Amino acid sequence: MKAVYIPVILIFALFFVIQNGMLDLRPWQALLKQAPMFLFIGAIVVALKFKQSRVVYILLFLLLSWALFVEIEHFKYLKFSPSLWFLSQLLILVCFSFDQNKTIFGRHGFFRAVIILAIIMANYRFNHSITLHELLNTELVTGLKLGGMTQIELILSVLALLMLAVKYISSPSKSILSIWIITFFLVYFRLIDAAVLTHLVAFSVFGLLLIQGVLTDSYQMAFSDELTGLSARRALLQSSLSLGKKYTVAMLDIDHFKKFNDTYGHDVGDQVLRLVASKIDDVKGGGKAYRYGGEEFTIVFPNKSVHYAIPYLEQVREAIASYAMTIRDNNDRPDNRKTGKAQRSKAQSRSKTVHVSVSIGVAEREGELKEFDEVMKQADEALYRAKKSGRNCLAE
Ligand code: GH3
Ligand code: MG
Ligand code: MG
Repeated sequence: MKAVYIPVILIFALFFVIQNGMLDLRPWQALLKQAPMFLFIGAIVVALKFKQSRVVYILLFLLLSWALFVEIEHFKYLKFSPSLWFLSQLLILVCFSFDQNKTIFGRHGFFRAVIILAIIMANYRFNHSITLHELLNTELVTGLKLGGMTQIELILSVLALLMLAVKYISSPSKSILSIWIITFFLVYFRLIDAAVLTHLVAFSVFGLLLIQGVLTDSYQMAFSDELTGLSARRALLQSSLSLGKKYTVAMLDIDHFKKFNDTYGHDVGDQVLRLVASKIDDVKGGGKAYRYGGEEFTIVFPNKSVHYAIPYLEQVREAIASYAMTIRDNNDRPDNRKTGKAQRSKAQSRSKTVHVSVSIGVAEREGELKEFDEVMKQADEALYRAKKSGRNCLAE
């Protein structure tokens, strides 16, 4: 939630200050007018680079919106109905957010271009339509005024924000969050009838939000592990550069995991990896967990000694060993379709509980051990000793 309300509050404050003339931006008007174009083009380059095609389409559309807004005289013959254009923006933001990041050009891109063109044509065709105007101004609650917005617009706005929220919750990503925030402010502007300067600043803010969204998503992709959601090895190596003089590193390895995979199958193995990872991530005492690779994990305790870290590591080890993991056991589902059907309901309700354990090796940076990889190696040797002395234990 913090990721949502902090930027929203900050942007709100910015718009409030500008809207109410507390900050005199008129001398900057010419710059503010052109800035969004550079930011949108920059954002498009970034989104292209990171293959976020849905963001590219959205940016193209926002660029068009900006052009319509500032160059309105040049587009005079278009004279779009603000209400219809507002709804078109919502439609594009929602549709493209539910889109996958497929290739930018090619057939997929062609269809996106057709959608954008169709929307422009529709705006052109229906800008003076009386029927549409009446439809959009239908009053469900008589006399209820909503600033610059009609009641139908409000309903569609709420619907759009809800759909984007569902999208964000089902597959969280920073760019979808940015799109949600942009939609939120488009709705807000329509409600309050924002001033020209506020609009201009908003376009720049939208460009920045999308650049930030794309970069954060790419960072996330590179530095976090897809299966477990923990930080990945790359993140460990990166953060090892900023560790101080004193720290403790623990290597954790699941015991007999190969046998486990052979018995239950790789899918169940993956489920167990996720569950174990979540227990490791719960480590207390200031430890930070990483997936080192395969069924091996690393916990780093910055500024802490081995003796400080051991009780917390023991806590993790015991939590895993005593954890009865419920798994969906699909392994004995028969290949034969007929018997499969008969047994499937049984097989599905038969969820098993299994146990695994981890062995832990721990080392501290001290004296002659100066480099991070030396400390890691020491922890790895300790891990080997833990395995030797019977597993499900800790060695230093
Ligand atoms: P030990 O107690 O000595 O650690 O025995 P082990 O079987 O765990 O050791 P080993 O390192 O030989 O085997 C690791 C196994 O972990 C090999 C592979 O089957 C499994 N494994 C590694 N990565 C994954 C993964 O992402 N998913 C699944 N399901 N299994 C994995
Ligand atoms: Mg291993
Ligand atoms: Mg193992």
